[in-house]
Amino acid sequence: MSRALADPAVAAATGELRRTLAVLHQSLVTNGLVAWTSGNISARVPGADLLVIKPSGVGYADLTPESMVVCDLSGAQVDGELRPSSDTASHAYIYRHMPHVGGVVHTHSRYATAWAAAGEPIPCVLTAMADEFGGEIPLGPFAPIGGDEIGRAVVETLAGHRSPAVLLRSHGVFTIGGTARDAVKAAVMCEDVAATVHLAASRGELAPLPRDQVDALHHRYKTEYGQR
Ligand SMILES: [Zn+2]
Repeated sequence: MSRALADPAVAAATGELRRTLAVLHQSLVTNGLVAWTSGNISARVPGADLLVIKPSGVGYADLTPESMVVCDLSGAQVDGELRPSSDTASHAYIYRHMPHVGGVVHTHSRYATAWAAAGEPIPCVLTAMADEFGGEIPLGPFAPIGGDEIGRAVVETLAGHRSPAVLLRSHGVFTIGGTARDAVKAAVMCEDVAATVHLAASRGELAPLPRDQVDALHHRYKTEYGQR
């Protein structure tokens, strides 16, 4: 076990995140974003260089707080009985290089992954996209699974965008957020607009929103929308 987990505050935060992730993983199922054991969520442990992530190859119905795995930010396992997700090194890379990120989600959700398979970013043709993503949902390169190359592709692609979601060519979707819940929301919204824009594209040419309208919508959404 990591020495950091001997700190009662870190141990308490880790326990809380284990429970949160168990619930959030079920929301990937209820939102139709995952099939079988594909997909995973992680969360950064506040106050420690640790993350909590889904175990590898375990079905969603069998996920419990106890089954989640704790790793350090190099991706090495420090607590948990099961092996961590095969995407752990990439989640860790994202946390090391994006200090504002507290949660990461990866799915192969159907419509978003169809755009990734076609090798196309999702153009910003909806107010909901301007709100949530501040522009297009970008396409990153293909990267092999298992090491941290996917994490590098995510960080480098998102650097030039406001979007919390990125499509990885021939693979699927990664989303980031201040919390794991924020990253799940981005994954849900990404799939929703991916489906809508796909349907729109089948009806004719798409007309991206003008940049000034995108900026105004994104600003309003970030500063005025919702309960304050
Ligand atoms: Zn994947």
